[in-house]
Amino acid sequence: MKVGRGKVSSQIGTPNSTRACLSASVCRMEPPMAIFKDIDIDVLALVNDTVGTMMTCGYDDQRCEVGLIIGNVLTYSQTCGLKQKSHMEQTVAYPIPTGTGTNACYMEEMRHIDLVEGDEGRMCINTEWGAFGDDGALDDLRTEFDRELDLGSLNPGKQLFEKMISSLYLGELVRLILLKMTKEGLLFNGKVSTALLTKGKIEMKHVSAMEKYKEGLSNTKEILTELKLFPSEEDCVAVQHVCAVVSSRSAKLCAAALAAILTRLRENKQLLRMRTTVGIDGGLYKTHPKFAGRLHRAVGRLVPACEVRFLRSRGGSGRGAAVVAAVARRLAAQRRRLHTALAALLLPPAILRELRDKMRAELEHGLKRETQAQATVKMLPTFVRGTPDGTEKGKFLALDLGGTNFRVLLVKIKSGRRRSVQMYNKIFAIPLEIMQGTGEELFDHIVQCLADFLEYMGIKGARLPLGFTFSFPCRQASIDKGTLVGWTKGFKATDCEGEDVVDMLREAIRRRNEFDLDIVAVVNDTVGTMMTCGYEDPNCEIGLIAGTGTNVCYMEDMKNIEIVEGNEGKMCINTEWGAFGDNGCIDYIRTKYDREVDEGSLNPGKQRYEKMTSGMYLGEIVRQILIDLTKQGLLFRGHISESLRKKGIFETKFLSQIERDRLALPQVRHVLRQLGLDSTCEDSIIVKEVCAAVSTRAARLCGAGLAAVVEKKRENRGVERLQITVGADGTLYKLHPHFSRILQETVKELAPQCDVTFMLSEDGSGKGAALITAVAKRLHNVGQK
Ligand code: ADP
Ligand code: MG
Repeated sequence: MKVGRGKVSSQIGTPNSTRACLSASVCRMEPPMAIFKDIDIDVLALVNDTVGTMMTCGYDDQRCEVGLIIGNVLTYSQTCGLKQKSHMEQTVAYPIPTGTGTNACYMEEMRHIDLVEGDEGRMCINTEWGAFGDDGALDDLRTEFDRELDLGSLNPGKQLFEKMISSLYLGELVRLILLKMTKEGLLFNGKVSTALLTKGKIEMKHVSAMEKYKEGLSNTKEILTELKLFPSEEDCVAVQHVCAVVSSRSAKLCAAALAAILTRLRENKQLLRMRTTVGIDGGLYKTHPKFAGRLHRAVGRLVPACEVRFLRSRGGSGRGAAVVAAVARRLAAQRRRLHTALAALLLPPAILRELRDKMRAELEHGLKRETQAQATVKMLPTFVRGTPDGTEKGKFLALDLGGTNFRVLLVKIKSGRRRSVQMYNKIFAIPLEIMQGTGEELFDHIVQCLADFLEYMGIKGARLPLGFTFSFPCRQASIDKGTLVGWTKGFKATDCEGEDVVDMLREAIRRRNEFDLDIVAVVNDTVGTMMTCGYEDPNCEIGLIAGTGTNVCYMEDMKNIEIVEGNEGKMCINTEWGAFGDNGCIDYIRTKYDREVDEGSLNPGKQRYEKMTSGMYLGEIVRQILIDLTKQGLLFRGHISESLRKKGIFETKFLSQIERDRLALPQVRHVLRQLGLDSTCEDSIIVKEVCAAVSTRAARLCGAGLAAVVEKKRENRGVERLQITVGADGTLYKLHPHFSRILQETVKELAPQCDVTFMLSEDGSGKGAALITAVAKRLHNVGQK
């Protein structure tokens, strides 16, 4: 028997839900109970009796993950309770009477269930295995009696497996065999009675009675006499034997099918040996004197690698249904509260379009002379006027400050046919006390690292041109002058804001008095990224960073840049869009979590867009939400652990790990355990949803901003359709499993007239700085000649 596809019976977890599937978007179904027309019923759980059995047993034994019915169970009308509360939604468990056959359900891995979306956790599958063999698979095993029984049934050709097993048919099989044997003269002196000719005259209860150990023989005699068959002693023994053959076959068939499920469970769990519990109900199993024992023994022989506990369901499927309803109700309530908490993070298309338009307005403000001073998106001219043309060459130094790592690079650019860029770089740490110490200390440290690098490369004597990638907002008056507008990301060194960072670097070099350098350009990392991609693709006129922070630059027409003289050609504008919203214009989408992250940051009230979209903050937003959900009792059993209280503990890289598609929940739990968070599977699912909500919002927000930029480019060019390339960099963009895709989809959605190609930048802040320096050198030399 192949187990794997089945009907999805109920989206619920088991009572102790450690291994449950909480994807319990417990379906609101039209109650199939037309008779209750006047009652507004919220059918929480449509419970199959097997599922009820599993749930009831699962209540007593957490290991229970299979539910089995063999033979009839309680009638449902007795167990389905309905209480009416007027004007209120009803929650009822509604068991469906399926007849008195056989069936099984078990917990299947969500990733194997094609019919249901989602890969997480497990869901109970109602196999409806009674139909096994309806395609002919059992034809070799079916006897003439099985065929006869089937032909005389209400549903010929259907439920063939069930007809070989279940209590409804066992007595009938015995009757058909006895009839044939009698007709052949093997029993009752060949005398057939009317009763023996009558369908349904032998029932399961008779078979059970005849197979009893002690009274079996006298029972048999009594039963046969009642059927007017006048049995001899030998007749009775023979009839007992027939009963044993029929009921043993039933037990063995059932065991074989159960073995298939157990093997599948074991394989799903990739275990060599497995302990599990099967919740079991049904008259045949419970009342037949030998059935259970035969079943257990056969299972033991068929799947020796599984140690199976058979647990009789107490209280039948009614109690199971009640348990199911209780679990489902708890999960549904949890889900509602989770969705309420996360609802504020959802950005519907209308809001995104609004944000795109707001960003667009801010871009214009920053470019206009009158509004520029107050603009939050500063639109800083970079004095980079052209992209590389391939004639650049030489050796250059580059400094990269403003990212996670501080680096010094030597870049060798070759032009002509052997066009290439070679790079050597060294990473240096910037200790926190220097990041947040004085400006002099910071720049002395930078020059110290430079000296180490020159020493290391053996080029201390050469006075090389240097490009300084300085990824903070700088107001530039020329390509080699940059006044720091204000620190962002983790930096806070004193006496730097309002100062020219190139001067500070030159002075630090002078103080050290060991070597001299020609500082040619101060470069924003976005610009470096755009230039690096521009070196490969001339259509690249936008640079995007989604790393520690977020920012964008793009080539703007000079005539639109009011604060720079001249109307010819283009210049790259560093938008510094991370500050979008600092005037309050996006406060309506900020949540209490965003405000908490902002208040706990180094620069409260600043960089509001960045704080919703970039690597430095996403993990922190998740942590705030987790704390809130825990307070609401929805996570970690309501207990806020010490580690969850620690700021920065939830790094953005964990979002990437947790959101990886095929990542099984145990691995999510592993990540959480590394963070000192002891989580159940339900917790893991919630945490994963929180992460997805936060990163999706970030990507959508970023996409809305980028849509404003590409749309502006399109209007600048005055074209119906724009083809443009965006050079992109940053660890969030590169390593998060969904961020870049969602960002790209959002741009497509919000700027439908633009065909945007995204190009990953290879080390934009290093290579780009060298290229800008090279271009500036080339233009400078041309100017001098
Ligand atoms: P920067 O922007 O500082 O130059 P990066 O582009 O490397 O540097 O981005 C660093 C940021 O990326 C950090 O804030 C960190 O939180 C985040 N990050 C690190 N690893 C991952 C990851 N695997 N997935 C998503 N974000 C990450
Ligand atoms: Mg960087």
